[in-house]
Amino acid sequence: MPESQLILNTLKEYFGYDSFRDLQKEIIEAVFEGKDNLVIMPTGGGKSICYQLPALLLPGITLVISPLIALMKDQVDGLKANGIKAAFVNSSQDEAEQQEIFQDIANLAIKILYVAPESLHFLEGLLSEIEISLIAIDEAHCISAWGHDFRPAYTQLGYLKKQFPKTPIIALTATADKATRKDICDQLNIPNAKLHLASFDRKNLALEVRPGNKRIEQIYTFLSDKPFQSGIIYCLSRKTTEALAEKLNNKGFSAAAYHAGIEHQKRAEVQEKFINDSIQIVCATIAFGMGIDKSNVRWVIHYNLPKNIEGYYQEIGRAGRDGLPSSTLLFHSYADVVQLQKFADMSGNKEIQLAKLDRMKQYAESLSCRRKILLSYFGELIEKDCGNCDVCNNPPTIIDGTTLAQKALSCVTRIKEQEPIGTVIDVLRGAQNAIVVDQGYQNLKTYGIGRDIAWRDWQQYIIQLINQGYLEIAFHQNNKLKLTALSKKVLFEGEKVSLAHLKELEKVKQPVINT
Ligand code: ADP
Ligand code: ZN
Repeated sequence: MPESQLILNTLKEYFGYDSFRDLQKEIIEAVFEGKDNLVIMPTGGGKSICYQLPALLLPGITLVISPLIALMKDQVDGLKANGIKAAFVNSSQDEAEQQEIFQDIANLAIKILYVAPESLHFLEGLLSEIEISLIAIDEAHCISAWGHDFRPAYTQLGYLKKQFPKTPIIALTATADKATRKDICDQLNIPNAKLHLASFDRKNLALEVRPGNKRIEQIYTFLSDKPFQSGIIYCLSRKTTEALAEKLNNKGFSAAAYHAGIEHQKRAEVQEKFINDSIQIVCATIAFGMGIDKSNVRWVIHYNLPKNIEGYYQEIGRAGRDGLPSSTLLFHSYADVVQLQKFADMSGNKEIQLAKLDRMKQYAESLSCRRKILLSYFGELIEKDCGNCDVCNNPPTIIDGTTLAQKALSCVTRIKEQEPIGTVIDVLRGAQNAIVVDQGYQNLKTYGIGRDIAWRDWQQYIIQLINQGYLEIAFHQNNKLKLTALSKKVLFEGEKVSLAHLKELEKVKQPVINT
């Protein structure tokens, strides 16, 4: 292993930094020891140096597998500007360009070679002739169907360890739950890889979730105390990004839309203007942000519910990279949930997608510290509540809601799960309207057993029961309320139910139905 002074000098000389961040040193040392490594570090944590620095001190070439073809040129240009001999090979190049790079490689004029997994075959002949000192696999979660960004081309990377058994592999990702982690190591044939798990806690990001009604007005208010502060609004559809950008511009903000349907040059321009602060707000689909290095993004809004927690965390992670306090705001509406369920239904791995969406929903509907939920998703447990999320700032008082729950659930049972929330409440409160009378609900045992509770309060309680999984809404059957496996526990097995006290509800901000 090179001496630690040499390592530090290299850090200073090529990257301009005086010291390592958390974990970087131990990762780099493990690389020099020839170990395989799995690095899980949040976006902006400083993963690149973990292979770029060893690359400079190792005798041969470091091969970097990366899916981000669009960013390769920028990455390589950045390295070259720092005096590092780097190149890339991908499908955007013509044969002459590739030949030139092959020549440089053969002449040992390259230390770091970026290659897209689809383009690895171009290197076939060459790889057996040159010395490869290190193989870095960036965005390693792409190998796993468990990850949120599966790329089939990644699945063939398992052969690398077989072909180069002595070359250490370093796999890096910002987003991997336990299942994904194991899958990455299995598929890359690095079962003994050393795991380096950086903390995902970004304490400077304030977390907030609000019901998604009148979103545009909420956004104006949200922005009113953030003059000229850079931010990103993530939307589900391209159309929304454009409509939103237009509204914001009409309101006097400087905003631009960004999505994969906008032509390349225009997109690059938006990105450029955002980075140098001449556009304040980018309304974007998830296409925006991969690899963007802007440290002073002060806020991120999710106009729509993201489809999973990995994506959500990565997107809010683009705020506050400079460590200064930054705000995040997620709008939650059931209309989005329905839309995302449809997408999941159509996708190849439907069960996984639905399960992940469920976790996202639970996060949005949580009555306990949101950061705890986020971090536990990544396998990290924090002892105390965070104090920097909306639930921590306005914790609900919890009451024993068992009787309430029993009343609501037995009412749903008696009306044979055939009615939406409104009618269930009418029956509970003993209303005498047309539906109740037509269906003869006034003869049910549960008719009127909830008279003592106001209509609106019942609505809020039932939403809480839905959030906790005691009831569910059948979106494909006119929003009828249905029992779940959990409801039976309450009805027949004496399970206790905790609910948030309603006086607190203004603060707890329940999601809205039908927006
Ligand atoms: P990741 O790949 O994990 O998203 P990067 O490698 O792009 O993160 O690093 C994020 C930012 O942090 C970059 O601007 C990088 O130059 C900076 N950085 C990385 N390591 C250090 C360090 N030891 N000291 C200061 N800044 C660093
Ligand atoms: Zn909290």
